[in-house]
Amino acid sequence: MIKFLDLQKINTPYRLAFEKKLATVSDRGWYILGEEVQKFENEFAAYCGTKHCIGVGNGLDALVLIFKSYIELGKLQKGDEVIVAANTYIASILAILQADLVPVLVEPDAQTYNLDPDLVGANLSAKTKAILAVHLYGQLCDMHKLQRIAKQHGLLLIEDAAQAHGAQDGHGIKAGNLSDAAGFSFYPGKNLGALGDAGTVTTNDPELAQMIRSLRNYGSEVKYYNDHIGYNSRLDELQAAFLQVKLPHLEGENQRRKYIAKRYLAEINNPKIGLPFYDRSLNHNFHLFVIQTKNREALQHYLQESGVQTMIHYPVPPHKQKALGQWNDLSFPITEKIHRRVLSLPMGPVLTDDEVTSVIRILNDYR
Ligand SMILES: *Cc1c(COP(=O)(O)O)cnc(C)c1O
Repeated sequence: MIKFLDLQKINTPYRLAFEKKLATVSDRGWYILGEEVQKFENEFAAYCGTKHCIGVGNGLDALVLIFKSYIELGKLQKGDEVIVAANTYIASILAILQADLVPVLVEPDAQTYNLDPDLVGANLSAKTKAILAVHLYGQLCDMHKLQRIAKQHGLLLIEDAAQAHGAQDGHGIKAGNLSDAAGFSFYPGKNLGALGDAGTVTTNDPELAQMIRSLRNYGSEVKYYNDHIGYNSRLDELQAAFLQVKLPHLEGENQRRKYIAKRYLAEINNPKIGLPFYDRSLNHNFHLFVIQTKNREALQHYLQESGVQTMIHYPVPPHKQKALGQWNDLSFPITEKIHRRVLSLPMGPVLTDDEVTSVIRILNDYR
């Protein structure tokens, strides 16, 4: 079976370095918010090109803490509207809801699956105060147009960069450094994955950075003195240490993903399969390689029988989820079509050339 993503194989080369880090952290006896977190924060800020990076518990919390911090700083108020693409992973929307803000769902661009700047413009209201730009599958949103809209209307622009580690725009600026603040996830399956839950916020705003540092740690900067009603969402020392081991290899791993994607794009030629739109001026990190097909269940079944594991990102759009019952009657035709047709092929830094060749051959043999 060709796995969709072989996490064990991805982490095996780092095993010895992980063990050394485990010994260091265990022997030091300081397990929360210590030098490993600080070191990783500095390294990831340098990697993204931002002034600040704040380690938090996971990617969802990174986004929640950004919104809650803006509320604490008086830059957002409960009930303010945040524009977000209707086809995003539900975490983006949960983050807005958990901060008592109002998500305004808009259809994505039918080609890129990312926010359509024209539709953002069309959905602005007097209550709109922020745009959440999700770089879906690792392809950047049109950040220059979104930056212009945000500036023109005095909106905050926030990136959900949970799938976009290392993705770059045409000027070489990385995800995480294209907005007021960005949330990253280091969930094990992301391009930079920990051995558990982990996340960060990146920003160039010192005031926001300080507020997030406080809110992630009970709203406290001096132990047992609490300035805000905070949370407990800290990046673990151990996960930060593991992430230090993997960060220097992220560029190489992304290059390997890009090489595999280029082969898929060049060699899959079956009229039943639609290939993803790929803007070559952007440096896509190919977190996912997502094809579309009319009869997805049949194709997925054929691939499974042929030894190719695939996944669906995602089978049900947020507005059709039981949890969001108040939106179940809304209609987003582009979003719904995407959710009916998408299928994610095996993708990752440890997929071999032979495996890629097999996937391509099996797809081209599909009738
Ligand atoms: C993974 C993901 C998240 C949430 O990250 P967690 O670390 O799992 O909380 C948020 N948004 C998007 C787009 C994601 O893919």
